[in-house]
Amino acid sequence: MPPKTEYKNLIRPDIADMAPYTPIVPFDVLSQRLGIPAGDIIKLDANENPYGPSARVYQALANETYYHIYPDPDSSSLRQALSQYIGVDATHIVAGHGADELIDLVIRLFVAHSDVVVNCPPTFGMYRFDTELNGGKIIDLERKEDFSLDTESVVDLATNNKNIKLIFISSPNNPDGGILDDTCLRHLLQLPLIVVLDEAYIEFSGGSRANWVLEHENLIVLRTFSKWAGLAGLRVGYGIFPHWILSHLLKIKQPYNVNVAGATAALASLSDVSQLQENVRKIVAERGRLYAALQAFDFLEPYPSEANFILSRVIGKDAAVLKTTLAERGILIRYFDTPRLQNHVRVSVGTPTQTSVLLEALSTL
Ligand SMILES: *Cc1c(COP(=O)(O)O)cnc(C)c1O
Repeated sequence: MPPKTEYKNLIRPDIADMAPYTPIVPFDVLSQRLGIPAGDIIKLDANENPYGPSARVYQALANETYYHIYPDPDSSSLRQALSQYIGVDATHIVAGHGADELIDLVIRLFVAHSDVVVNCPPTFGMYRFDTELNGGKIIDLERKEDFSLDTESVVDLATNNKNIKLIFISSPNNPDGGILDDTCLRHLLQLPLIVVLDEAYIEFSGGSRANWVLEHENLIVLRTFSKWAGLAGLRVGYGIFPHWILSHLLKIKQPYNVNVAGATAALASLSDVSQLQENVRKIVAERGRLYAALQAFDFLEPYPSEANFILSRVIGKDAAVLKTTLAERGILIRYFDTPRLQNHVRVSVGTPTQTSVLLEALSTL
């Protein structure tokens, strides 16, 4: 028997060196800790949909009879319905266990050891996480003061670094809610790399570029049911791919990546689009109200957003204290303290009642 300590050396060294993941506190644990019933907690920290899923989702899940059978590896019915929804042929679509799974799959497909992925922070954290996990290298090109992309730096880098494979752009961008404009995207598409456009929040802004995939062999567009359709807990996302990429992607996808419940719920959602769009309209209207109301506080400087959240700089107060004080009252918001987002908070757009409770709490600070 070797001494126990040697087993430790069997772990991949890069993972052994990784900082541990800080898990978010589960909803029920938080509710117990705060002594506030889960239903009364105002959760504005993860851009979830306050209206939840379509009523048809509950019905469809209750009526589904094939939970004991493995799901369709091709997600055929879902992809067919998605094709109607986005107006792109189903042969361009791959469904995934959330858009998060597709981010990981795309990186696995293109990035081998020491290949480079361009990241444009502040942005969604999974691009960095999955790149590093898969042995790739991240190069950060910080966004400009107004959070728009520094296109010139991207062009510079892409023309000078031969190891670059991918660039990830979220539009609307999480956490600021800004859009990547057409001109800028066209520029990027001329570079010798694959552009992954993450449209997780596109239903709140409009102007999807999903059909650009038909004309650009280096564009991938990622979408999800988590935000607009209220299915974050069921994990269903999808991507729109040029055929040449899709054929390779299918080789590395886990066969049962979308489970029966997820596919059933997504299909039921697509049968109830006008109702879900009504919820989206409510959220967009509420975003306007929330923005104006946040602006009225002299310690907050909100940025205009095309998504279902608003980023604000906190002035003359400690954003960490603000977050904690709100949390004690059962209002959860996201707080950032990276160099670029020092003393910033991000608030998801909730229902009108949730906004009122938040504003009331802010006015007593
Ligand atoms: C929430 C979010 C996702 C995750 O989508 P899932 O389908 O829930 O995995 C992807 N991209 C961005 C930018 C997000 O904010």
